[in-house]
Amino acid sequence: MTPTTTPTSLRFTPQRRAIYDVLCESEDHPTAGDILERVQRRVPGIGAATVYRTLAWLVQSGQAAELRLGEADATRYDRSVHRHDHLVCVQCGQVEDVHVPLDHKLLDELAGPTSFQPSGYDVQIHGRCARCAAANAHNVGGIA
Ligand SMILES: [Zn+2]
Ligand SMILES: [Zn+2]
Repeated sequence: MTPTTTPTSLRFTPQRRAIYDVLCESEDHPTAGDILERVQRRVPGIGAATVYRTLAWLVQSGQAAELRLGEADATRYDRSVHRHDHLVCVQCGQVEDVHVPLDHKLLDELAGPTSFQPSGYDVQIHGRCARCAAANAHNVGGIA
């Protein structure tokens, strides 16, 4: 499991490295468009196709993960490829990493009636982030 040479397909070119760095510095699960914008600030003239191709490559090679929040939403990119869950703000779209440990017994219970064999899970909890909740409370509060 310790190859002496890295296959060409896994090699980082300076452009790939810049895109990967931008993703690693992004805590907000950016879309491809967000990443393009940020990379262009760092590498002027880098093309959209390069950024999109590199993101696909990062996902394929297991260095980044895709995150889909819903049919209408653009695919987001996640720098963390380890199993984790997400808190999704329905108001501002903020996505926060969180761990929701599900009991394996619970998974078995869910799978039992359907004979489904779960191999993993990921949870998206929808609601309002602290900032939006505070803003709402302020607005709804009316007369202060
Ligand atoms: Zn929010
Ligand atoms: Zn995440």
